[in-house]
Amino acid sequence: MSSEKIYLDNNATTPCDPRVVDAMIPFFYDLPGNAASRNHPFGWEAEDAVDKARQQIADLIQVDAKEIIFTSGATEADNLALKGVYEMYQRKGNHIITLQTEHKAVLDACKKIEKMGGEVTYLPVQGDGLVDLAALEAAITDKTILISIMYANNETGVIQPMKEIGEICEKHGVLFMSDATQAVGKIPVHPKELGIHLMAFTGHKMYGPKGVGALFVNRKNPRVKVTAQMDGGGHERGMRSGTLNVPGIVGFGKAAEIAGAEMEQDAKRLAKLRDKLEQAFVNSVEEVYINGNTEHRMPHVTNISFKHVEGEGLMMTFNQHLALSSGSACTSASLEPSYVLIALGLGDDLAHSSLRFSLGRFNTEAEIDRVIESVSAGVQHMRDLSPIWEMYKDGVDLESVEWQEH
Ligand SMILES: *Cc1c(COP(=O)(O)O)cnc(C)c1O
Repeated sequence: MSSEKIYLDNNATTPCDPRVVDAMIPFFYDLPGNAASRNHPFGWEAEDAVDKARQQIADLIQVDAKEIIFTSGATEADNLALKGVYEMYQRKGNHIITLQTEHKAVLDACKKIEKMGGEVTYLPVQGDGLVDLAALEAAITDKTILISIMYANNETGVIQPMKEIGEICEKHGVLFMSDATQAVGKIPVHPKELGIHLMAFTGHKMYGPKGVGALFVNRKNPRVKVTAQMDGGGHERGMRSGTLNVPGIVGFGKAAEIAGAEMEQDAKRLAKLRDKLEQAFVNSVEEVYINGNTEHRMPHVTNISFKHVEGEGLMMTFNQHLALSSGSACTSASLEPSYVLIALGLGDDLAHSSLRFSLGRFNTEAEIDRVIESVSAGVQHMRDLSPIWEMYKDGVDLESVEWQEH
């Protein structure tokens, strides 16, 4: 990456590791085979490469290679898990439980399931973003077939108590699905130890290529099945038809191998840089709030509100050289505050004033120093221009001000 521009939006997507690209290149030129071609060496070589990648990915999460179903990404894996379980287990029940803070790939698939006749409970979370385990257990009915709870949140990095959730699922005989997109490859994720039966993740959030992901589907105790959402040649044991993206899968496998070898040192280094960044703001910028639980959290993420500063406006002061995300989402008509931060109980203004910093393997300490400077200067600049900040500094109680309607 260019030395001038700083990329701190690794939760949106990560750059490919050069070692990943090197592993993929032969599969565009010298090894162009279709992994489903069974009658010539090009096909065999492609199939061998897919088998190797499947094993690399299975090793990373400590499952059997047969339990990995390749998809086009985590969105598709989430859809396959949710809709596939709903269709397969309809006779057992039609109720699914998930969280209000899930990714749209889960929430929108659940909306579709409701249209198909399913019932979905969208549980609120606590102020720190964690699920309330008692509320989760209380939401289970005799119609509940699936609990879907993300491993780590993409906006806050908050990690849910997966083991405890797994135990609740086990006790009630309910399947446990997790969107682990933000966790796999960054921290140790072992679904079998946690009682997770289905797990979605993707290449491009772990330094692999875009457009390739996977769904782990448990094969034994219990043997889980999902109804295919894509019909065709019966690839991936009938669960996901379509010619396999061989170069992408090879890259995904290589990314998994690298992650397995390096995640511990990466996580330690990034946690130090993240903490340095966070502490710099906490210590030298006024009215700063860290969103989400800071103990059960991914090592490379922090989500911070700079009170009385619009995140989108703040980003404009430095977005020519620094990439971050704000707590506002662009909808057709307006900027909506992040539904994840709203679910944590933030008001609209604190949600709009938040920035997500997500660090990655290729960020350096020098970059973090520059980020501290840029963002601190941006906050100062915005506040200098802000009548609201001036009122706040003058001790006006902003809650009690009666704003004139226009
Ligand atoms: C990025 C992301 C997805 C979507 O993954 P794609 O591979 O881009 O489809 C799903 N869930 C979470 C939590 C994510 O962060």
